[in-house]
Amino acid sequence: MGVNFPISPSSLSEGFLTNVLEKTPFGFALMNGEYIVEFANDIWLEIAHKTRDEVIGKKFSDLFPETGEQIIPHCENVRKTGNAFHAPEFSIKLVRNGILQDVYFNFIYHPVYNESGNFQCFVTVAMEVPEMIEIKTKVKEDEERLRLATESSHTATWELNLLTREVIHSHYLSEIFGYGSDELVSHQQLRSHLSEYDRIHVVEKAFEEALKTGIYKYEAQITDKNGVEKWVATNGKVFFDGLGQPTRMLGVMQDISERKKSEILLKQSHHQLNTAMEATKLGTFDMDPESLQKYNFSPRFLEIFGYDATKETIGSNILEKHIHKNFIKTRAEALREAKETGDLYYQTKIVLRDGSVKWIELYGRLLPPANGSKAYISGTVRDITDLKNFEEKISASEKKYRFLADSMPQMVWIGEPDGKLTYFNKSTLDYSGKDYNHFIDGNGWLEIVHPEEQKENLRLWEKSVKTKKPFAYEHRFRNKHNEYRWFMSRAYPELDELGNVTKWVGTSTDIDEMKRQENQKNDFIKMANHELKTPVTTIKGYVQLLKKMRGDSEDKFLVNSLNTIENQVNKLTVLIGDLLDISRMESGKLPLNKREFSLLKLVTETIEDIKASEQSHQINFELKHTTDVEVYGDKERITQVLNNLLTNAIKYSPLATVVNVKLYVEKNHAVVSVEDFGIGMDGKELKKIFERFYRVSGDDEETFPGFGIGLFIVKDIMDRHDGKIWVESEKNKGSKFYFSLPIFTNL
Ligand code: ADP
Repeated sequence: MGVNFPISPSSLSEGFLTNVLEKTPFGFALMNGEYIVEFANDIWLEIAHKTRDEVIGKKFSDLFPETGEQIIPHCENVRKTGNAFHAPEFSIKLVRNGILQDVYFNFIYHPVYNESGNFQCFVTVAMEVPEMIEIKTKVKEDEERLRLATESSHTATWELNLLTREVIHSHYLSEIFGYGSDELVSHQQLRSHLSEYDRIHVVEKAFEEALKTGIYKYEAQITDKNGVEKWVATNGKVFFDGLGQPTRMLGVMQDISERKKSEILLKQSHHQLNTAMEATKLGTFDMDPESLQKYNFSPRFLEIFGYDATKETIGSNILEKHIHKNFIKTRAEALREAKETGDLYYQTKIVLRDGSVKWIELYGRLLPPANGSKAYISGTVRDITDLKNFEEKISASEKKYRFLADSMPQMVWIGEPDGKLTYFNKSTLDYSGKDYNHFIDGNGWLEIVHPEEQKENLRLWEKSVKTKKPFAYEHRFRNKHNEYRWFMSRAYPELDELGNVTKWVGTSTDIDEMKRQENQKNDFIKMANHELKTPVTTIKGYVQLLKKMRGDSEDKFLVNSLNTIENQVNKLTVLIGDLLDISRMESGKLPLNKREFSLLKLVTETIEDIKASEQSHQINFELKHTTDVEVYGDKERITQVLNNLLTNAIKYSPLATVVNVKLYVEKNHAVVSVEDFGIGMDGKELKKIFERFYRVSGDDEETFPGFGIGLFIVKDIMDRHDGKIWVESEKNKGSKFYFSLPIFTNL
């Protein structure tokens, strides 16, 4: 081989060394000061992809035009300083086991000097770094894994060069800011999406802080490119150079809008809860479900127990300390139950340090463990002193009323909104001889009602309950001696502000005596009527006879007297008739003899009749209908109605001279009006004139004789004809009475 080794250790022969170097497992070559290759072993040649002939005696830079140029300045340095140069690992493609592979080598350029210290040559050693491949792949894999991890956890990564402000970032960062995932977004652009406030007060502050501490961290609001508002969080680290100058920042960014949204919601609901707590003046506490130790008392809790929340604290034995002795058992039971069910509830009296007594209500519910915290009972406490006092007052006043109700001779009873009777006063029980339970059991009370009235009684009561209208009924109740007496029962619903029945309050008044008297009165009227009718009819007959015989006599006094007698007897007849009608009406026995007839004829005839006996007024009749008007009813009774209205019109307008009568048809009804210009009535009186025995009281009462039953009968007659009667009137101007009847049709 003829190689001249610059060093020839005396102990080793040249041939031996050459042999060793040929066979070493690393590449080995020698270069002289002119960079001419003088020796290269097999491995080196293999690495260099060259043959020995191609290499020996050739200039390094000619052999490897690319790397040679770079290596030479380093080697110059090596020659000067005597320090070896380690070229960074070098990847070279080699066929190994028939497969082309990336193989990594470390090249070392080492200077060799002779004994006098003069530079001799460069030794080039190429050592394979097999683990390099593994490391490189591992790094690549790790990088890939990191990328996947960051992407799947929706974490964007970025790197900021602090000297150039250049930013490199992952695709996801572009997406957070609303850009296409392939778009690169500059540092400037990123900042422009921050809200003005956050940019100045959050991000720039955090940035300055990071340059000092090395840690970059913030949460801020952005509006992305599409105008969507978002929250982002950044975590980063600053890298400093050898002189302590910050050179770059590395970090991750996350879109935390969802988290922020729920944080804001949570804050809001916390706020709402607090407001509700304040409004309801609830104190709060937490409790361990096992030990039942209370803790976390709110200021209001302290306040309820009479402590100053700003200065004092309380221990978990707060209730033991203050509970009223009568309630120790109640509390123990509630706590035992809370342990079992997780629900805590009790009301108790507490005694404060100043000796005053309060009522409180404690309520708690077991909350399951969450976010690493243990399960606990969250509780509230409410001061219910006022409520309790009020309740006590109510029950005291209820007692008072019960007492009152019980001491009344009248029967008093109370019913639920659904009609079930739940209370009867003492009078009821005393009268019937039954006990309380007997009455409230089902419809037990119905048993004392006379069998003849039971059905109707129940029907009316159910109707009232359904319609929420007052109940009124006359019925007989059986007393403890099995005798029946008449009672008038009335009940009124008590309504709440929504119009729902909260209670029925009823009374039953003994009207037995009244009933008896009324029956006697009716019997008397009936009898009197009969007894009066006979003499009056006789007088009337004789007067008519006398008038016939002496009506044309010269004796004016006689004629006048006969006329007066006849008039008065007629009035007496009407009066007797009215009285009889009333008693018949009350027993529901006023007979009606209905058939169709001409109302027009009735009106004209009645007016004629009145004219014959009453000359004081002129009665005008106006017909506002072209044909006859037929109605269906009792002609006598309708005549009675009109008669009544006409005589009233004359009677109550003594200073007037005219009465106007009209007949017209309106909406299938025939209407008759009687108008006078007399004393009239005011609104208050108008409502009552159709009641029995009602007479307008006043100075005129004496002047206008009457019983106050005419209009009562008129009203009843109209009702029983499906007709109507009404009046318009003004005090001192006059009245206008109307009545209407359905037109008769053959259909
Ligand atoms: P009476 O006329 O017998 O008193 P009524 O029942 O006919 O009884 O009338 C009841 C009351 O109505 C009368 O007392 C009177 O005050 C009032 N009244 C009836 N008709 C008229 C009228 N045309 N003008 C003024 N008041 C009247």
